[in-house]
Parts: sequence; structure tokens; C-alpha cells
Amino acid sequence: MNTNDTRELVIIGGGPAGFTAALYAARANLNPLVIEGIQWGGQLMITSDVENYPGYPEGVLGPVMMQEFRAQAERFGAEFLTDDVTRVDFSERPFRVYVGDEEHRAWTVIVATGANARQLGLETEVALQGRGVSYCAVCDAAFFREKTVVVVGGGDSAMEEATFLAKFATKVTVVHRRDEFRASPIMVERAQQNEKIEWALNAVVDRVLGGETGKVTGVVLRDVHTGEEREIQADGLFVAVGHDPSTKLFLDWLDHDAGGYLVTMPGSTRTNIEGVFAAGDVQDHVYRQAVTAAGSGCMAALDAERFLAAEHHREQSLAAQKH
Ligand code: NAP
Repeated sequence: MNTNDTRELVIIGGGPAGFTAALYAARANLNPLVIEGIQWGGQLMITSDVENYPGYPEGVLGPVMMQEFRAQAERFGAEFLTDDVTRVDFSERPFRVYVGDEEHRAWTVIVATGANARQLGLETEVALQGRGVSYCAVCDAAFFREKTVVVVGGGDSAMEEATFLAKFATKVTVVHRRDEFRASPIMVERAQQNEKIEWALNAVVDRVLGGETGKVTGVVLRDVHTGEEREIQADGLFVAVGHDPSTKLFLDWLDHDAGGYLVTMPGSTRTNIEGVFAAGDVQDHVYRQAVTAAGSGCMAALDAERFLAAEHHREQSLAAQKH
């Protein structure tokens, strides 16, 4: 067991929220340690062109943008540990964050571990990510102007993405494994009224085609009742079957909703434990954008800084009263 000095701040997670929190905290002299994860960078590492992040008029590759976020925080003194947190103990302060047997102590912690889009688990799905397979219509719809796309899912995200994609694509086929929708009726109706949207119900995507060409050319659908297969041509496959927040380590400590997303106090990044803050997709299942994650990372660093300053001020006042 390593008894490091107690830090002002440890940030868990190395995506847009964690790196932005690190940038602000480093510039506020909090000397943050970012335990960024072995696969740091978050969802942007599986994104190709990012065209909706302000400040990049020509667009930027997701992994390049994450390297730049990281380098900017590093420039101001943030330290990084490229490993996965295995356990936390928020029972008392200083808080303890473990990487295996290695213990890191901190007066404040920012949790910014993000969320992962659920995948279908198909063989060519991963190879074609950013080459036609996408998990974010808001991010990628504009690349499918005058093209045909498939959307998988029967929830609000699938309905919203299909309706959004129909503004660009010539045809959108929604593939859903049942004939009833989890989505709210109003979202389904809106999609049903859109002439560009077609429906493949009681069906699943069995295979993604195009592996040999390096870009999606179509999918093979399988009827879940009859097992019958049919091929449809498509330039894009949008998977909208939900997200899973990376919160397993925190569920015993921090308030969370039924989906496992951490709950923060309205208008802040404060959690139910004083001194622990949550930023980015780990506490946001609504917006899920790099720019909103970065914004909430900034909020978390400011919240942590103000929390520490108020505490310091309290300690000084108490000390002054004693003398
Ligand atoms: P969701 O509600 O969990 O829906 C996921 C959908 O994907 C379900 O229809 C599910 O089918 C299907 N699915 C799951 N795994 C699958 C698989 N392996 N293969 C095929 N289909 C699969 O997720 P979501 O749509 O992302 O919504 C998440 C939350 O955000 C919800 O609370 C939603 O209301 C909210 N949201 C709201 C809005 C809005 O109001 N504007 C927009 C987006 C999201 P089954 O139904 O058969 O399980």
C-alpha cells in the first residue's frame, strides 16, 4: 500500500469532462491527478470527424481532439495516471481512490467516467465504426446527406435519431426487435408520419455488410419469428439501443437513478457526498455531447475549487477564534 500525500483533487476519467476539469483545476493550482483509464479519451476515440465542436471550423478527428484536450491540461501541470480505478472509499475524508493496491487520497474527487453506447455485438460493427457505423445521429447525420441509413432501436433515442436523420438521408429504415415501442407515443407518431422513414419490425440486424470495402454498404436483417433473412442496401447504420454509464464503482456511495446515472444537485455538479462531484455523461443521459461534457467538467472544477476555498476559509476563521 502506497500512502501518497493527500491531494486537493483527484479526477477519475479521461474524456472531455475529465480533461476539462483537469485544465481548470490545474490553472487554479489544485495540482490535480487524473486517473484517466487505460483506454482514455472516451467515446470520441471511436469517432472519426467531429464537426460540431466549436473552434474547429474544418472539423477534427475525435482522437486528435482528445489528445489536444489532454495536452492542454498537461501544459498547466495536471498529472495523469493511465490506469483504471478499481475501488473507491468515500466513507470519510480524505477520500480514497484505489488503482489495484495503490491508494490515492484526495480532499475532493470529480467522477467523470462517462457512458458507453451499447453495441449490437456484430462481427463487423467495430471495424466499421466511423466508416458508416455510428452511435450518434446528432454528430454524424450530416455525413449521410442524400444517402440511405438504418437505425436500430425502439426507444426515444431511435425515434429521435430516425427523425433527425430523415432531414439528411433519402431513406431511413428503423429496425426494431419487437412490434411495440419503448419510445413515448408522441415520438413514435412523429417518426411514423415522416414519409422518408420505413419500418422493419420484429427484426434484428444480423450482419453489417461492407467489411471488405471498408465502409458500410448494407445490412442483413433477420425476422425474429420466421428466421427469414433479407438484405437491404444502406450507407449508414445508426445503433440507438441505449447507453450504459460507467458507474459500477460508485453505486454504493453516490445517489443514482434507475439507469445507473449519477444524480447531481440541480445547477451544480455536487453529488450527495460533500466534496465529490460528477461531470459529463456519467450524470447526463440527455445531451451527451463533447461540448456539454466539457462544460460540466469546467463546472465540476469550479465547484471543487470553491468548496475547498470555503472550507479553507472556515478553518482559518475557527483557528482565529481560538486565538
Ligand atoms: P432505451 O429507452 O433503453 O431503448 C433502447 C431500445 O433499444 C429498446 O427499444 C430496446 O428494445 C432496444 N434494444 C436494446 N438492446 C438491443 C439489442 N441488443 N438489439 C436490438 N435492440 C435492442 O434507450 P434510449 O432510447 O437511448 O433512451 C434512454 C433514455 O433517454 C430513456 O429514458 C428515454 O426516454 C430518454 N430519451 C428521451 C428523449 C426525448 O425525450 N427527447 C430522447 C432520447 C432519449 P426493447 O424495447 O425490446 O427492449
